[in-house]
Amino acid sequence: MTGSHFSGSTLALLEVVKLHSGERLQIAIVGSGPSGFYAAEALLASGLDIQVDMFERLPTPYGLVRSGVAPDHQKLKQPIRVFEEIARSPRFNLVANVTVGGQISVEELQSAYHAIVFACGAQNDRRMNVPGEDLKGSHTATEFVGWYNGHPDYRDRTFDLDQEVAVIIGQGNVAADICRILMRPVDELKSSDIAEHALEALSRSKVREVHIVGRRGPVQAKFTTKELRELASLTGTVSTIEPEQLALSEACDAELASPKSAVAKRNLDVFRSLTENIADGSRRRIHFRFLASPVALLGEERVERLRLVRNRLSGAPFDQTAVATEQHEDIPCGLAFRSIGYKGVPIPGLPFDAERGVVPNTAGRVHADGAVVPGLFVTGWIKRGPSGIIGTNKADSLETVHALLEDLSKAAPARAPGLEGVLPIIESRSGRVVSLSDWFAIDGAEVERGSSVGKPREKFTRIGDMLAILPPQGRQEDLSSAPLLETGTQG
Ligand code: NAP
Repeated sequence: MTGSHFSGSTLALLEVVKLHSGERLQIAIVGSGPSGFYAAEALLASGLDIQVDMFERLPTPYGLVRSGVAPDHQKLKQPIRVFEEIARSPRFNLVANVTVGGQISVEELQSAYHAIVFACGAQNDRRMNVPGEDLKGSHTATEFVGWYNGHPDYRDRTFDLDQEVAVIIGQGNVAADICRILMRPVDELKSSDIAEHALEALSRSKVREVHIVGRRGPVQAKFTTKELRELASLTGTVSTIEPEQLALSEACDAELASPKSAVAKRNLDVFRSLTENIADGSRRRIHFRFLASPVALLGEERVERLRLVRNRLSGAPFDQTAVATEQHEDIPCGLAFRSIGYKGVPIPGLPFDAERGVVPNTAGRVHADGAVVPGLFVTGWIKRGPSGIIGTNKADSLETVHALLEDLSKAAPARAPGLEGVLPIIESRSGRVVSLSDWFAIDGAEVERGSSVGKPREKFTRIGDMLAILPPQGRQEDLSSAPLLETGTQG
């Protein structure tokens, strides 16, 4: 890796940091998804004498690339190869199966590292705040996505796939993922890395009809066109839209006339092509519905209907919001998934903006009460909110690393113990720290399990099963062994 990742101003900063840092720089990254790995990559490419320790709550790295990206989108998992290369750096440690804010506090980490970069994502779903939201049969996107991707937290969730009609609230790419997994023939999923329990349950699914409901219009739908086209052309499924759903306001026409609306224009072409489709009952059906917001999920013991209010759009082009009318309609349904965006989860000891679900920051520097907190940084969804694709995190993490280097260039850092300082604390509190070589052992075992059933891997979906294949005493010496704590080669 080289400094070619950096802009001229960052390269100048690097020279200053190099000049006055006699000590190895110890940086902790919390979270092992794309934003964490891109921050690690930038730090390791800086040419500085730097050690990066990446903390992860689960025994498995890669965050949403492992447990968010849909199993029928294996190509989107390719960044894992890059992340593996980054992880193989002699100046990188994985410290997994360790919760920051649990087994080790933010304060304890601060005392051992020159800087901490939080890359912990947005793990909660936003709520709709409507009656019936917690009825049986009403689920969050996180639950369903985590379940089919074998995330240990969601492994035991159950979804009543005996229901024939499902609704998905929200019109973003996560809603598209959920809809595809519900509707795609299981034969097309069985050679993916979908969790075995999900494949088995989906093979018995009776879901035949999915309504994808957006509170605004077709021009504001958040799908990317590739995902929308894919949804509209699933084998054995017909996608339909009532023509009147595509009536556009003047402000929508103005939006479409802007060069900023290339995706919206392409999406609209796809939507228009679906108005001719006839849902004849012989195939599974997807209905796109616009300008409707949920007001209640209704049912005695479980979801039986979704009550919607019709909306109109109000506001200037690109600033249009949904305003409820007096008109209501009910969609009979047995399953409801809300896919209306994610929210960050607070970590004790780290400032948090509960309203926005992010850590307050400027260009990655964490703020508390309007003042910068020295040594604390954020990147990815916990920094900017839940938007963008995997690659978006690269530039985001570079910005954060630039801020971090700028701060380090202002004062000669004193010696920091790094992992050596926190490992005894972690070991006294946690069961089993999972190192990089431990993860590679889990990874190898998953790939081997998959090969016998024609899948790229068969994931372990329980933490106990992951740890069971590791040596009982752990290999913590991997984490604290001398070579990692000595000055290694740079660049
Ligand atoms: P998203 O793209 O922000 O979509 C959220 C949807 O929920 C929007 O339609 C939004 O409508 C709607 N919504 C928000 N609050 C609502 C409410 N109170 N009531 C009704 N509807 C509401 O979020 P996402 O689908 O969770 O995706 C997150 C990010 O991951 C996105 O950047 C996405 O592109 C990315 N992603 C990419 C892929 C891929 O590349 N294949 C796959 C999955 C996710 P409004 O527009 O009106 O707010």
